[in-house]
Amino acid sequence: MAILKIAQMGNPILRAVAKPVQESEIKTKDFQKFLQDMVETMREHEGLGLAAPQVHHSIRVSVIEMRKSNPDEQDYPNNNDKEPPKIYVFINPEIKPLTKETNSYWEGCLSVPGLRGLVSRPGKVNIKYLDENGKKCELTAEGFFATILQHEFDHLDGKLYIDRMTDMTKLAFDAEFEKYWLPD
Ligand code: ZN
Repeated sequence: MAILKIAQMGNPILRAVAKPVQESEIKTKDFQKFLQDMVETMREHEGLGLAAPQVHHSIRVSVIEMRKSNPDEQDYPNNNDKEPPKIYVFINPEIKPLTKETNSYWEGCLSVPGLRGLVSRPGKVNIKYLDENGKKCELTAEGFFATILQHEFDHLDGKLYIDRMTDMTKLAFDAEFEKYWLPD
C-alpha cells in the first residue's frame, strides 16, 4: 500500500470531469490496490472522505469512512461503539436529491487545506453506485452523511465546496473557525 499525493486547489485535475470506471476493471489487482491506497491516504490525512481526482486520478471513485471523532457523528449510519469504522467505496455514483430542504454544515477539504466554509446542500439524497466488488448498490442518506456524499461526488464533476458557498463571510481559517464558529 502507499500514501498518495494530494492535489491542492489550483491543480486543474480538481476541475476536470472525471471518467467512469469500466466495470471489467474493478476486480483487477491494480484497481483494488488503488482503492486500498485511497483508504490509506484518507486515514493518513484524517479525512472523512477522498475522491480519486484528489489523488491525481481522474476517475469516478470516492471513499468515505464513518468515524467517531466528528461532532455530527449522530448522523452517521451504523455508528455505535460496538461497530468498527465503516468504509464505503463508491464507484460511478449517481446522486439524486430527495428534498429541497437544505442542511448547512461547515466543510473542509484535503485539497483546500487550512480552511473551513459553511455550505448548504439538500438534506436527503439517494445514491446508486457500484461497490468495491462491482456490486450494484443503492442507499439513502440524510444529515451530515448526505453532505459528505455530495461534497465527495462534486469532486468527480470538478467542483469544490467553495463553489457551493453563498456567503463568503463564512469562509474561515481553521484557527478562526475554532475560535468564532465552532458549534458548542
Ligand atoms: Zn474535498
